[in-house]
Amino acid sequence: MENLRLRAVETTFCRKPVKITPPSGKVSEYYGSLTFNKSAMREFLPVDAYDNIINVIESNEKINRGMADQIAASMKAWALSKGATHYTHWFHPLTGATAEKHDSFIHPIEDGRAIERFNGSELIQQEPDASSLPSGGIRNTFEARGYTAWDPSSPAFIIDDTLCIPTVFVSYTGEALDYKTPMLKTVDALNKACVDFCHFFDRNVKNTTVTLGVEQEFFLVDAALYAARPDIMLTGRSVFGHASAKDQQLSDHYFGTIPERVREYMKDLEIESYKLGIPIKTRHNEVAPNQFECAPVFEEVNVAVDHNQLLMHLMQKIGDRHNLKVILHEKPFKGVNGSGKHNNWSVMTDRGDNLLSPGKNAKSNLRFTAFLSVVLNAINKNADLLRASIASAGNEHRLGAHEAPPAIISAFIGEQLTATLDIIEKTGTLKKASKSDNNILVPKIPEILLDNTDRNRTSPFAFTGNKFEFRAVGSSATCAKPMIVLNLMVADELARFNKEVKALIKKGEKKDKAIFKMVQKYVKESKRIRFEGNNYGDDWLAEAEKRGLSNVACVPRSFQAMVSKESKDLFVRNGILSEKEMDARYSINLENYTKKIQIESRVMGDLSTNHIIPIAIRYQNTLIENAIGLKQVLDEKTYNSISRNQVRTIKDISEHISEIKKNVELMLSERKIANRLEGDEEKALAYSDKVMPYFPIIRRHVDKLELLVDDKLWPLPKYRELLFMK
Ligand code: ADP
Ligand code: MG
Repeated sequence: MENLRLRAVETTFCRKPVKITPPSGKVSEYYGSLTFNKSAMREFLPVDAYDNIINVIESNEKINRGMADQIAASMKAWALSKGATHYTHWFHPLTGATAEKHDSFIHPIEDGRAIERFNGSELIQQEPDASSLPSGGIRNTFEARGYTAWDPSSPAFIIDDTLCIPTVFVSYTGEALDYKTPMLKTVDALNKACVDFCHFFDRNVKNTTVTLGVEQEFFLVDAALYAARPDIMLTGRSVFGHASAKDQQLSDHYFGTIPERVREYMKDLEIESYKLGIPIKTRHNEVAPNQFECAPVFEEVNVAVDHNQLLMHLMQKIGDRHNLKVILHEKPFKGVNGSGKHNNWSVMTDRGDNLLSPGKNAKSNLRFTAFLSVVLNAINKNADLLRASIASAGNEHRLGAHEAPPAIISAFIGEQLTATLDIIEKTGTLKKASKSDNNILVPKIPEILLDNTDRNRTSPFAFTGNKFEFRAVGSSATCAKPMIVLNLMVADELARFNKEVKALIKKGEKKDKAIFKMVQKYVKESKRIRFEGNNYGDDWLAEAEKRGLSNVACVPRSFQAMVSKESKDLFVRNGILSEKEMDARYSINLENYTKKIQIESRVMGDLSTNHIIPIAIRYQNTLIENAIGLKQVLDEKTYNSISRNQVRTIKDISEHISEIKKNVELMLSERKIANRLEGDEEKALAYSDKVMPYFPIIRRHVDKLELLVDDKLWPLPKYRELLFMK
């Protein structure tokens, strides 16, 4: 019998990557060359049409038919000039991935020839028969029709031979079946609230932009080793594997030299990203061996989300050329750090001010502290919903574990800001900065803030100088989910803030005083959510409980916040999603969770029964034969004294085998019971409470066997092989 693992280990040394030929010239010369950006539009559209379209796109108006035909014609000409032969509406269904259905430009005409055709209606709307995509019961398969509609705010792009047009995906009856639809609505809601808010300080603000920069963590594993690990292939993580003698304890990987092979991969990834206008800026090693990170420069949130989805696709695609598999799972390897996606979020005005930048004068300081207090209070009121937005089967391993522990949501703002907010809280009356300054004296915020070094790496939601960084997002997740929730809760809270300030002004309060009063109120209200200490410490658990903060580490239970009365009110009040749509999303999340745990459980069972146990028995037989042989050649006394250890190993192996068998069977019967349950919620909870508890038990015995069985026989690539790039 051939050992797949040993063959894979040998293979890793001898394969060469198929590198991409870099385009000639500097990056700036080909950056964005595969996107239908403004410069391509200018080139391919008549001047007046271009002006018209930019106007419409920027003011969010509807595009009329004539205009659509014009854009479609120019988009087609551009795409054909780049060698595209197909087009597709590219959308974000509720699977969390992206979906596309390609159509050819080619259209037969009467004389037996064909032309390339693409008109306005094909650009604007399509009806993909996407009946197998999840809808949470909104659509029945027999009335599967849903349609996709063009999102002009995210530029179309070309991948391989296909023009991809970013679109929303809605059901025939108008319900959103994707993440982009509610995303765009929350951006709109937040923009409105922000503009209104900015008018307290500057009447010239007409528009704001929500910004997002996504730091993306991931692991790389050699493709041959990956192919020999059915668990990683099917579930994205290793369900078995004993820790390597060395992993991250020396911290020698973090920010170390990027291995040659990985650098070559990253180079190609960057080239392809740049062509698509994804502004990758940084790359470095992460904490765990074979763990890396790349991050783009921040962009408008809707575009940034699209780009992150696209980036994940590119990462896999380029990985294949380099014989590498990209592991996006949140916790692929036990005992070393998992991966997340840090979502850096802020709001920028069209006057160039970042609402989360501490100001230079009293006025901008007041604006900053006001906006900060609103964000903090939004987190305070909607922590459960925020947690639900990042909960997933993969992220469950990180909930309460040793990275960005999102089981308790809290916010970190740093020592200086804490001091500032404490002063605001206690200052009952307002002081004037000076005689000439009519503004309120908000305590001065020191310049040092931007470079502040006491960044708390343990906080799930941290202020980092001029943005908040939401670190609880899973590495494989779409950023749309948490960004929908964050945008919405801040929009809602800010609208309330604005309203109350206006009410105070109406009652005769001076504007600045009114704002300050509200800031003070918000600072007090949100105080319990602020935590500067170590989020990994046990004292935090007790402290959080005392403060009345919730702590939910179980994923299906954390989903429940999606359908609480408060959450439904929030979404409905702001016109983002209806109750029906929220129920649908809730059930999709549950179903997805159940399926993932079910697959993991099956993989564990199969691997144990068909790979691990037979090998363990084989090795055990060798030991038994050896013991019998010894008994034949040795006198009894010598035999008894030296065989003790060997016999003990035989016994140990037997015990592990029998424990594995027993627990796999018990797990199977729990799975059967769970499968018979009707409701999505009951089923997910049964998988979480009854099936999953067998995972660590079975794993413990398998991992022990890994240490006992002859290395040459062991069938699965080991952690030391998977985690140290050659
Ligand atoms: P870190 O030290 O956490 O790695 P960086 O300074 O490298 O942080 O930035 C991380 C991400 O934050 C980058 O993608 C960057 O573009 C983004 N970022 C910076 N400023 C903003 C902002 N105002 N809004 C949103 N994202 C931002
Ligand atoms: Mg960061």
